[in-house]
Amino acid sequence: MSASTHPGTETLLRYAAGTLPAGPRLLVDVHLEGCPECRATVARLMSVGGALLEACEPLALAPDALDRALARLDSPSTRRNPAALHHAEAAGATPPKRWPLPEGLKLPPGVVLPPAIASRRIGRLVPVAPGVRLGLVHLEEDPDAQVLLFRIAPGRAIPQHTHAGLEFTHVICGGFSDPDGHYGPGDLVECDADVDHSPRVDDDGECICLAAFDGRIRFRGLLGMVTRPFL
Ligand SMILES: [Zn+2]
Repeated sequence: MSASTHPGTETLLRYAAGTLPAGPRLLVDVHLEGCPECRATVARLMSVGGALLEACEPLALAPDALDRALARLDSPSTRRNPAALHHAEAAGATPPKRWPLPEGLKLPPGVVLPPAIASRRIGRLVPVAPGVRLGLVHLEEDPDAQVLLFRIAPGRAIPQHTHAGLEFTHVICGGFSDPDGHYGPGDLVECDADVDHSPRVDDDGECICLAAFDGRIRFRGLLGMVTRPFL
């Protein structure tokens, strides 16, 4: 089986339905910014969902339903919806702020952070293993979300780890391989909890990538002890 470099159908369904947790949702946002194919799929899923809602029998609304709907419209996750953002920018609204690059992150010439990430505060990148640095991406809407920015030297492996649910990895620059295939810039890789893997970065350059998890992540051995305070 060849590896998929797009989010799975179930992930896109959960994204469209608003049930994907904040961390994986952010990685899908990043992928959608660069993938017209998946944007079209999400738009179709959202229109199907809307048509299904219209076909449903009307239900009595809770007395505070309008207030809650208005509050959601103003929530950070709604504001960050790429479609909503596009409308806001078209209407001349202030574009989202960009944070300075975190300490320890240097991007190759011509590479910029995806807008959905550049508008988030990223903690200092700390060395956690030979050739591996990671920083925590802060999500206002879910302070407990684990979204990690990795900077990994050529030929190094992403340290061995296990996770309770799905793991999502998005490549910003460089590339890596696992037994299923090779992944490059813009690719999003999903792995389930059964996979105990240690993907290896290409020999010809650093890899900068993002990782998010449906469940909690644990690294093995010494790295597990090093990362425990901030994971
Ligand atoms: Zn895609």
